[in-house]
Amino acid sequence: MNELDPIFKPRSIAVVGASRTPGAIGHTVVKNILDSGYRGKVYPVNPKADEILGLKCYKSVLEIPDEVDLAVITVPARICPAVIEECGKKGVKGAAVIASGFSEVGKEGAELERKIVEIARSYGMRILGPNIVGIMNNPLKCNASFGPYLPYPGKIAMISQSGALVIAMDARTYVDKVGMSHLISIGNMADLDFSDLIEYFAGDEDTTCISLYVEGIKDGRKFIETCRKVISTRPIVALKAGVSERGAVAAASHTGSLAGSAKIYRAAFRQAGVVWAYNLNDLFNRSLALSLQPPMKGDNLLVITNGGGVGVLATDAAERYGVPLKDAPEELKAEMRKAMPEFGSPKNPVDLTGMAGAEWYRSSVEAALRHEWVDGLVVLYCETAMTDPVEIAKAIYEAKQAAGVNKPVTVSFVGGEAALKGGEWLQTHGIPFYRSPDEAVSAIAALREYGRYVETLREGAFTPFTDVDREKVREILEGARTDGRKALLEPEAKEVFRAYGIRVPPGKMATTEDEAVRIAEEVGYPVVLKIVSPQIIHKSDAGGVKVDLRTADEVREKFREIMENARRYDPNADLKGVYVQHMAPWGTETIIGTVRDPQFGPTIMFGLGGIFVEVLKDVTFRVAPVSPDEALEMTAEINGADILRGARGEKPKDVKAIAETIARLSQLVTDFPEIKECDANPVIVYEDGLSVVDARIILS
Ligand code: ADP
Ligand code: MG
Repeated sequence: MNELDPIFKPRSIAVVGASRTPGAIGHTVVKNILDSGYRGKVYPVNPKADEILGLKCYKSVLEIPDEVDLAVITVPARICPAVIEECGKKGVKGAAVIASGFSEVGKEGAELERKIVEIARSYGMRILGPNIVGIMNNPLKCNASFGPYLPYPGKIAMISQSGALVIAMDARTYVDKVGMSHLISIGNMADLDFSDLIEYFAGDEDTTCISLYVEGIKDGRKFIETCRKVISTRPIVALKAGVSERGAVAAASHTGSLAGSAKIYRAAFRQAGVVWAYNLNDLFNRSLALSLQPPMKGDNLLVITNGGGVGVLATDAAERYGVPLKDAPEELKAEMRKAMPEFGSPKNPVDLTGMAGAEWYRSSVEAALRHEWVDGLVVLYCETAMTDPVEIAKAIYEAKQAAGVNKPVTVSFVGGEAALKGGEWLQTHGIPFYRSPDEAVSAIAALREYGRYVETLREGAFTPFTDVDREKVREILEGARTDGRKALLEPEAKEVFRAYGIRVPPGKMATTEDEAVRIAEEVGYPVVLKIVSPQIIHKSDAGGVKVDLRTADEVREKFREIMENARRYDPNADLKGVYVQHMAPWGTETIIGTVRDPQFGPTIMFGLGGIFVEVLKDVTFRVAPVSPDEALEMTAEINGADILRGARGEKPKDVKAIAETIARLSQLVTDFPEIKECDANPVIVYEDGLSVVDARIILS
């Protein structure tokens, strides 16, 4: 038996706070459980009542003569600790705490919340909530909530952090005939969180897709690990609310100001293998497809239509959702030509023309699904005066049966009542139906996204580099801390990078002109001089950087100039000296940086440098650590990826070297939690290799 079975497969339920007053939550919950057809035992608990809705009422759970699996608690928050205590004594193993007035209202509530969890733990009881609508459970025909009825039956387990949305989505399931096994309100997640429920529903035989409405995740690492573990058995799709940028939180580093929770959630979901939903409609659409259809196992998507317009819309959508249409091979085109008039088009999208009736749909759909090139199929139909949508629907279904292959199909019928009827017929036969080509394509793109995750997440594990010097890094970090400094000096930051095998130009700090010249000769001309001072973070702003120095005289002159500039810039600054380093040749400027996210811990960013990062914010994130393979994906997914591939006759840049640097830096910030933020900016990339010419590390 699973630890959560008492909550999701209860044989008996006590409603604590049951009420005789119609309209009260404690009344509605009892009534809903009875009305929905639950066949287990129901025990209302209320010290002031003898009978509720024809059921004997108990003064306390302790008086109930039988075992109780689940307690649904509707009493006010302040009474909850006492009730949970009694449930514990009774041996109840699961509680759904509907009551609100906990951490969502402030400090006192948070204390109550902490208390009920503590009591529950001491009895080995798990808590769903508090502050929830309840649990809607279709397989058990049990509506243990104050929502009006069970959702339209199906295979999606939907878990929502918003209670209001639970009730709204419940009603919505009937409009679109999107079927759910469970609709669950997760509330404050005082005990059970998304990860716990995901793990449970991945093993639930009545569920084929787990669908999430997420406002915030408490333990990001646990979430990623849990999802990765289960996605080969169940797809997970999520809508993240609140994706506008979190204000730049007093960030001392560049990366800090670019990191918004939105980008990090997007990255984390990708690493977790969670399919992204773009909005609420899309969450329904994608959940439906994932619950009914198999994953799409390759990138070859074919579109069959009876009208050019919807075909073009589908083509646009395919590109937007990451499954761009490709040219079909000649044999497939020849097959398609058999089922269309002379003026039809066998290309992708295949246009059967407005004359296409059920037979043409039947033969083209069957041939397409049978053809090995096709990995997934979107069938579009525009209502016409000559054809019957229900006939077309039946033909599509029968063709899929006849083809006998496990490839995903989504459809869109555009038109009026008749088209809807045809579409709904298909949906009740397991083929998801949408009202627009865009939605049908988004749905199949979700099946491809899922397919990709299943293929790639199996590999992708991070293997730490062993040629790193942790001791060295620890010493440098401790040195800074003893000095009371939060930002490392550039020479220190470079030393740290070097200890992790990250390529930085050779250099040393000089305190006199003579020393500067000596170092310049050692590292080789041309050189760069930079001010070293704990108070000067942005060195160029202080006139503290001089590049391309080629002689000893130049070095002497610029040494003096830098010291003067710095003194003028901040008369109180402690000037440690001047960093003399070999000047790296010109190349493509990129940025690699890290920040610590409150939910996901260390995260790493990559983007093109200079104007691209300042203005276009063309960057991408991952939760650290990342393997070089994963990091390579990052270099391909920024908008300016073509610049790295070698645009306008330039040679391709060494993206492998970038990927290795990202991976090494991600290991550094994972190994040292005291590193709050760091920037390698710029990282100059060449056809062969790269050089990290500026380094910044901020400690927490
Ligand atoms: P800051 O960002 O604090 O102003 P940097 O160390 O980034 O200072 O130096 C400013 C600019 O000088 C860099 O963006 C880079 O273009 C150039 N630069 C700095 N160091 C080197 C180097 N070793 N080789 C080549 N160019 C360099
Ligand atoms: Mg810089």
